Amino acid sequence: MIKLVLSDIDGTITDSRRVLSSSASEQIRKAQDAGVIVSLVSGNVIPVMYTFRTYLGMKAPLFAENGGAMIDDNITQFFSMDRPRAFFRDLEKSRLAKGIMTNQWRLCSMGFEPVGPVEQEILQLTARYNVEITNSGFSWHILNVGQNKGFALHYLMERYDLRPDEVLVIGDNFNDIPMFIEGVRKAVPANAEEELKKRADYIARSGYGDGSAEILSSLESF
Ligand code: CA
Repeated sequence: MIKLVLSDIDGTITDSRRVLSSSASEQIRKAQDAGVIVSLVSGNVIPVMYTFRTYLGMKAPLFAENGGAMIDDNITQFFSMDRPRAFFRDLEKSRLAKGIMTNQWRLCSMGFEPVGPVEQEILQLTARYNVEITNSGFSWHILNVGQNKGFALHYLMERYDLRPDEVLVIGDNFNDIPMFIEGVRKAVPANAEEELKKRADYIARSGYGDGSAEILSSLESF
């Protein structure tokens, strides 16, 4: 029986334009009302997760910055800003990248846009700074080593004392792969990257939020 659902936000409970899906929101509420713990993890920032918690009435802790920070009744920061900031400043100085608007609210990661086709160059620099970069499909993020959605998943499994088969993860893009771990149930909306579809136990008929609503409305089948 699924006791915990951990879902991505962008492209998973939104539509293709990034607008929150009403069908997915409704199914999140229904799952919560049925006693399932529903949590979200995103590359986005704590103020955004605060909004989800408050205005969608979510009860479980939610994770920002790919798992690096958590909001429940308080805010917990699991990783430091030192390395992501140092790496970002050097990218900026070398004119390889520019920052994104949400950086002003970040606690332990930096978002960036490469300036030109320099992804490989940036990727090669990460080892020197001991950071990792990931792409959500919406923006690039600089993270500490070990700061990923799998970190959030392990935290929740420990906090609620859950076995992998009691957990369902939902995601659509490469930065969701760290939570697609052995033993947990994995579902994807139809718009998901091939790499995720290959790892999924279930691929929804619909894409985006409608696909996730379909998944959330049939939790008993997992
Ligand atoms: Ca996504």
